[in-house]
Amino acid sequence: MLVSAELLLYYQRCDRRAFLDVFGNPRQKDPLDDFLIKLRQDSHAHRQIELTQYDYHQPKWRPDDWLGGTEATLELMEQGVECIYGGVLSASWLPGITLICQPDLLVRETGSSALGSWYYVPKEIKFGKRPKLDYQIVSAFDGLVLSLVQGIWPPTAWLLLRGRQPHLVDFDKRVPEMHRILHDCIATLRHHRTPDLFLSRQKCNLCHWYSSCHAIAEQQHHLSLVPGVTPNRYEQLRSMGIETLEALAQSSLSQLKGAFGGEVGEQLSQQAKAAFSQQAIPKLPEIDRLVREYSHRWFDVPEASVEIHFDIEAEPDLDLDFLLGALAIDRVTGTQQYFAFLAETPGEEGKIWQEFLDLLWAYPDAPIYHFCDYEVKTVQRLAKLYRTPSHRWKPVLDRCVDVHWWVTQTVVLPVESYALKPIARWVGFDWRDRNANGAQCICWYNQWLDTGDRRYLDAIVRYNEDDCRATYDLKNWLVQFLKPLYDASLSPSVIPSPLG
Ligand code: SF4
Repeated sequence: MLVSAELLLYYQRCDRRAFLDVFGNPRQKDPLDDFLIKLRQDSHAHRQIELTQYDYHQPKWRPDDWLGGTEATLELMEQGVECIYGGVLSASWLPGITLICQPDLLVRETGSSALGSWYYVPKEIKFGKRPKLDYQIVSAFDGLVLSLVQGIWPPTAWLLLRGRQPHLVDFDKRVPEMHRILHDCIATLRHHRTPDLFLSRQKCNLCHWYSSCHAIAEQQHHLSLVPGVTPNRYEQLRSMGIETLEALAQSSLSQLKGAFGGEVGEQLSQQAKAAFSQQAIPKLPEIDRLVREYSHRWFDVPEASVEIHFDIEAEPDLDLDFLLGALAIDRVTGTQQYFAFLAETPGEEGKIWQEFLDLLWAYPDAPIYHFCDYEVKTVQRLAKLYRTPSHRWKPVLDRCVDVHWWVTQTVVLPVESYALKPIARWVGFDWRDRNANGAQCICWYNQWLDTGDRRYLDAIVRYNEDDCRATYDLKNWLVQFLKPLYDASLSPSVIPSPLG
């Protein structure tokens, strides 16, 4: 059995992924998307920058010939060259187990080893800014393979992070952890049974098995598709004999509250009921509170003949908000107009910011609907950056209404997450480009900057307009949903009961 550093890295994130990478059907893998390709390109560019600080030797080997690569790398190590980039090391470990690693750099240090009066220390170049635990475990794994090759453990390993000081990996802590993880990984691979799935946004985000896992999860009505069911809560639910969506939806509230506390127990119960019944469930106590707190009906401002729906596309690596999109709905004339304030070069951000403000002030009474708080934070950031007088931007904030906040405060929906896409899709909105997303727009914007091909800009604008329209549809749905409940809340005797 071959265990590589890469396999160990992915095993730490998901045992199922490591297993599928070895035994899965490659045809079920998702194709590489543009965002992943960009990440790889950025990572490669960062690596090239780091490498300028080293005078290295590079062994020659074909990617499918790791044995030949090990020989070529070992040859350079035996020569005692100062630094090796792009090598590969492999060694037998336990019976039937071969370990393989590809440290970005092997740097010579003075000291006795099987090689002579020198040994090598591994350095991994990472695009990330933090010394994540899984990186440190991989460094400890590099140390193990090196120890098998050169006869002694390197005293430590280094992580070269983006924009940070090099991080010294603490082998005293990480090596025992690495051994435990490595043994678990080997046991999983030997077990010949695909590990259970658990979908989570953070873990599964960039995984090439996502579509196949998601299809299985949907088929099984898997509990990980219920918002609020974390891996720990999932295990706890299973220990309580609650393994299906139906079982969770039918569990007693007092049992769930006893296990998870009042708030979480209530959340899990309501969320499962919504998913199981495929119906929206109003949060009546919250609605009641909001009715008392907000004297006006935010969703039904009579004096506002125009309302604006606002959405941004940004490139975080450039610290740039390159598209400020606004959909103006004239409720009197029944017309709609979408405005795209687009920075065709990063230098135009200040210009589009002023143009966007001009539009907002053309409709000084219009409420400004947006989804999540990024838009508000961006208004604050741009105002500060471009020294905008406070009378131009502060009143804008008072007009902002966060539709996401209102949704999550007032209703439980049968969705997998409370991001704009799943919610708006549930209310019936569909994006013209089904595969587009914010990350894809970042790639498209960089491709526009690189190639000057306007089709990338057109695709971004189309996506942004759809985001604005999705926010509009969602807000309209929420208005229709809440209106009778607000009315009922104003006459407490007719408050309807929550579903279930
Ligand atoms: S999609 Fe998620 S659960 Fe499936 S293999 Fe990938 S990381 Fe694991």
